[in-house]
Amino acid sequence: MLKKLFKSFRTPTLRGKHSHSTPEVLGSSQHPIERGEISRYAISVVERLQQAGYQAYLVGGCVRDLLLDIEPKDFDVATSATPEQVRAEFRNARVIGRRFKLVHVHFGREIIETATFRANHPEGDEEENSNLSSRNESGRILRDNVYGSLEDDAQRRDFTINALYYDPVTERILDYANGVHDIRNHLIRLIGDPTQRYQEDPVRMLRAVRFAAKLDFDIEKHSAAPIYKLAPLLGGIPAARLFDEVLKLFLAGYAVYTYELLVDYGLFGQLFPASAEALKLNPDYTDQLIRNALDSTDQRIQQGKSVTPAFLLAALLWPALPARVIKLQDRGMPPIPAMQEAAHELISEQCLRIAVPKRFTMPIREIWDMQERLPRRSGKRADTLLENPRFRAGYDFLLLRESAGEQTGGLGDWWTRYQELSDSERRNMIRDLSNKDDAAGAPRKRKRSNNKRKRGPAGDGSNSAAGE
Ligand code: ATP
Ligand code: MG
Repeated sequence: MLKKLFKSFRTPTLRGKHSHSTPEVLGSSQHPIERGEISRYAISVVERLQQAGYQAYLVGGCVRDLLLDIEPKDFDVATSATPEQVRAEFRNARVIGRRFKLVHVHFGREIIETATFRANHPEGDEEENSNLSSRNESGRILRDNVYGSLEDDAQRRDFTINALYYDPVTERILDYANGVHDIRNHLIRLIGDPTQRYQEDPVRMLRAVRFAAKLDFDIEKHSAAPIYKLAPLLGGIPAARLFDEVLKLFLAGYAVYTYELLVDYGLFGQLFPASAEALKLNPDYTDQLIRNALDSTDQRIQQGKSVTPAFLLAALLWPALPARVIKLQDRGMPPIPAMQEAAHELISEQCLRIAVPKRFTMPIREIWDMQERLPRRSGKRADTLLENPRFRAGYDFLLLRESAGEQTGGLGDWWTRYQELSDSERRNMIRDLSNKDDAAGAPRKRKRSNNKRKRGPAGDGSNSAAGE
């Protein structure tokens, strides 16, 4: 009940701006967080550090989520103790990270991540620090490994709602950036000057969208305004980091809404340039296919089922294939090699932007290859396909294509029935195929014809990209 009140109560104006160094303090009666909701290990890390004379708080996503009555994914601790000092306090502590050291305190399977207070690099201290600049020419911070005070730590965080510190001993919340106000008003707001903060770390644009979707918050207008123009800065972010961010964006259970925001803010094209191109060429089909894939991902996550990033990525990229296949065919390449070459090119290009690991690119190729094989069912082919470990993903992908309006001549239904039937009934289905001399089922002679090129969904939508 208290939570409800807290959640629905919106403060129309700021209650007087406080300076960076004096936080607003909320006592235990002014907020709904109860100690019982917090990991006892996180509490014990904080207590232990405080007893040793350090400052220590729970911080970031866990405080934000508890205020919103969302179960936190994990509990992070921020402290004035250095990593070495933290390690000295705990038996099961490991220092991790090279660029910026963190300590993982292990309790069985639970890990409490403990970070030393950090400061933003003050502008202009590069010269003093050596000739190794801490920012690149677009303002991106390349190093941010300077320890700082609690106040510094609050200011270097991304959003006001992520800069709340909770002390489980006194049960007080310290709010240095009006984060409580923004939680009450459902606003994602950068701390400091938005343009500068995005320039320092363009991934914050993706994080703004991710939290807006996850929490169903609005991006405050000054924080929203520069995104569209600054979106191309994502081009300077290492592809491996972007891959991690993409997974967080699409595997949090709010992928459809996240996708809509990414498109609106011009961020989608930075992550998936070829798919954004397909959205222009063939908008209805591409948008529908992506939405349907993301929607089923969201549903699976909500039901606690597993999801594979490969399936999702296969869907995001699929609409970009046909245009490439056609280009290669125009250069005289036969359809099947053209399809394979297009798939290879598309994935290689995508990996320059987002480093998709091989363990995912392989299954993406297999899911796509399966689209070529599913129409060919004669003889023993159908049974061989059914035994293929990738069959299920390939079949689901076929249904996905159909759900977006691709015409496959009832192939999805055929495979659905085939899986439900007994051996003898399956034989009948295969016989029916050859009786009808089903073009897709019959062994095919590949004839080259230059004027009758098959088009995939980018063309008339009547054939698969893998096509024939
Ligand atoms: P989630 O529920 O997704 O874990 P979170 O807020 O805990 O949300 P993390 O990515 O785990 O997000 O980051 C932990 C905290 O570190 C954030 O709350 C924020 O204060 C800070 N942080 C993370 N990334 C950045 C960034 N790019 N710039 C500034 N601060 C950041
Ligand atoms: Mg977190």
